[in-house]
Amino acid sequence: MEKGAVIKHNIKKAADTGSWRYLKPVIDKDKCAGCGTCVKHCPEGIIKLRDRSKEELKKNGKLSKKVAEIDYSFCKGCGVCAQVCPFKAIKMEKEK
Ligand code: SF4
Ligand code: SF4
Repeated sequence: MEKGAVIKHNIKKAADTGSWRYLKPVIDKDKCAGCGTCVKHCPEGIIKLRDRSKEELKKNGKLSKKVAEIDYSFCKGCGVCAQVCPFKAIKMEKEK
């Protein structure tokens, strides 16, 4: 039986998206619960969780401590993140 291989994602070897992307994922930061589901599913591996600033938390104490952020330089607009988000915090919008 053939054995599988796990190829580690390397952002340095990732292809820059350029200007051809048609749809762009936009995160509603007030809805994001920082659960990390989109981080695990993005095929490009370019969504990260960051700590919210003190100012953000001061404005709304109900927000999660973490929030998702997308590196648009590498995002291909596939829409997987929007599909898997359990809080419907990501919407796909047409590029302007
Ligand atoms: S899946 Fe949705 S709620 Fe969870 S971190 Fe991503 S954007 Fe935020
Ligand atoms: S649209 Fe696709 S490539 Fe872009 S952040 Fe979402 S899952 Fe990743």
